[in-house]
Amino acid sequence: MMRQYELVEKVAAYKAEPDEALLNRAYVYAMQKHGSQKRASGDPYFSHPLEVAAILTDLHLDEATIAVALLHDTIEDTDATRKEIDQLFGPKIGQLVEGLTKLKKLDLVSKKAAQAENLRKLLLAIADDIRVLLVKLADRLHNMRTLGPMAPEKRARIAQETMDIYAPLAGRMGMQDMRDELESLAFRHINLDAFETVTARLAELKERHADRIAAIERDLTAKLKENGIHATVSGRQKTAYSVFSKMQRKALSLEQLSDIFGFRVIVDNEEACYRTLGIVHRTWPMVPGRFKDYISTPKQNDYRSLHTTIVGPSRQRVELQIRTRAMHEVAEYGVAAHALYKDGAASGPVHLSKDSNAYGWLRRTIELLASGDNPEEFLEHTKLELFQDQVFCFTPKGRLIALPRGATPIDFAYAVHSEVGDNCVGCKIDGRIMPVVTELANGDEVEIICAKGQTPPQAWENIAVTGKARAAIRRAARTSIRKQYSGIGQQILERTFARAGKTYSREALKPLLGKLGHREIEDALAAVGRGELKPTDVLRAAFPDFQESRAARLAEKGEDEGWFNLRTAAGMIFRIPGRQKIKPRRNGNAIPIRGAGDDMPVHFGPDGAVPGDRIVGIIEPGKGIIIYPIQSPALTAYDDEPDRWVDVRWDLDEAMSERFPARIMLSAKNEPGSLAEIAETIAINDANIHNLSMVATAPDFTKMVIELEVWDIQHLNQTLRQLRGKSCVADVSRVNG
Ligand code: MN
Repeated sequence: MMRQYELVEKVAAYKAEPDEALLNRAYVYAMQKHGSQKRASGDPYFSHPLEVAAILTDLHLDEATIAVALLHDTIEDTDATRKEIDQLFGPKIGQLVEGLTKLKKLDLVSKKAAQAENLRKLLLAIADDIRVLLVKLADRLHNMRTLGPMAPEKRARIAQETMDIYAPLAGRMGMQDMRDELESLAFRHINLDAFETVTARLAELKERHADRIAAIERDLTAKLKENGIHATVSGRQKTAYSVFSKMQRKALSLEQLSDIFGFRVIVDNEEACYRTLGIVHRTWPMVPGRFKDYISTPKQNDYRSLHTTIVGPSRQRVELQIRTRAMHEVAEYGVAAHALYKDGAASGPVHLSKDSNAYGWLRRTIELLASGDNPEEFLEHTKLELFQDQVFCFTPKGRLIALPRGATPIDFAYAVHSEVGDNCVGCKIDGRIMPVVTELANGDEVEIICAKGQTPPQAWENIAVTGKARAAIRRAARTSIRKQYSGIGQQILERTFARAGKTYSREALKPLLGKLGHREIEDALAAVGRGELKPTDVLRAAFPDFQESRAARLAEKGEDEGWFNLRTAAGMIFRIPGRQKIKPRRNGNAIPIRGAGDDMPVHFGPDGAVPGDRIVGIIEPGKGIIIYPIQSPALTAYDDEPDRWVDVRWDLDEAMSERFPARIMLSAKNEPGSLAEIAETIAINDANIHNLSMVATAPDFTKMVIELEVWDIQHLNQTLRQLRGKSCVADVSRVNG
């Protein structure tokens, strides 16, 4: 175990005149508090906070952060209190330790929502003071290093959480070494077989190519020296996990992966980076498409470097990273490098530098939290965002927009501004009109075409990959649906009030809102439109003395002239204007079918049948006779059972005024009011809607099944013709017609 003076020496190695007293006090206090506590391995508990502190000295952090690391488990696991820590170390350190304690409690819950909530808290804590994250990551790293003695189940859960959240978070904060080690450790516990196989093969390959790799290193060093470039060349091998995930992503075998060897070249300045690149490319053939200039276009986590891959003398591929020392520090330490060199010792919070991309990412993520979506949804978005690599695109004015890989112009539009996203109707990529669902590639110049007053189609939510776009699309869809319902609610109320001989006005609703259980007029109107709030209840709230007329009572049952109650498959009642009343469908023997006999009830098959159809009956034990149109594909199921077939015919009375069921399938454009227009068309044609359900939603169209009630086949065909003529209808046909 590290001694007290060793810890102080470690800090003193990178910081002049460290606050030794603070470090000593924290060391002694934590050691005394943890006393004889033991870890699962049998080691003294205090070894854990001490190792966490040591990890943070490797990142060259300030004394306050080191002290917080030493103290991080005291409130949780010992009799130490916040008050005591405040008194001994100051309120800032007390606050940081308490922040970590709260995060730790949530660690133990494995449920997805709780995990999401944990991440939410963590992000908010980071925004508060980045040191919480740094201690948390170091804590997690040491726990991962010492995971062995835990129960297998617990091990698996912690490893998975590390892979899902902490490793990508470290990457996002630019802490590459931390990320690599967290991933490697988690990989071993999540998939031991894969870990061992890949590790063994990597070692084998390294040995096989050792001579040639060494030759390249020698040549490279010599060439650079010849050209007067002062450089440090070091060999590096990819981690087992990064190799494994690339194998999976690209469906390649290990042998097919060519660039598992690499060199890092660290030079004095940016100019030397580009000169080194020139020398490398003139010495060895480069692999086309592998050159990346992250110096002129840094990654989202502020990473800067030149990357290229060359073909070596024995045709093996070698990846090179060329960067300056300053770039290297950012690559290794990430936010720790540029946020924490200043003196933060217990004086005030340390925030991410406002110019850093890590800060920008944090801000966007936290904005998402504020938009009020539930945490589980949030976790999904954040996990997605954390995991994806990125593409860089430009606005026509040259602004750089970094997006996760797989992003579309929809994501781009929302990244520019929420309003641009909401009003997006099309896009140009590199000057050409392209579908908004096109996957963006690096370097694309994207121009978003906007039109005022648009609502993004709901289906975009599944196309967008950024959390920001998804949340905004969902919000816009919610608002738009509410608007449609409230418009319908408004019409319903106007009619209900008019029928009662009263005047309706929006303003008159205001004082009633409390009574109706809604906070805003829009909400109350939408509730009426959705059928959740009865229009007569609104009328009665406005005029308590009002005596109900028969019409009002009918309206309550949804049978008033002019309004349909539609129930969708999801059970939503939707009131829609039209002309016809809905009559209850006939049932049982009342169906005018000849040949079925009187002893068995008669029903229509699921797709209905109408006079003019040639029909056949099928005996269904326990149910009776089911009537199908003779062309119905469902009948083939009974081909081998001739006994069940019954010859039936329509038995219609001239004077009879009955309607018959027929199912139609309709594709409608997703635009406001299209559903109302369809219902209106059906009503004007004197047909009824018995039921309506949405079966599929595409970006631009919604497919729905409508159960109609019509007089006969001519009436059905006429209704279909009328629907086909509507611009909002893309396609309509009878089901099994
Ligand atoms: Mn701990």
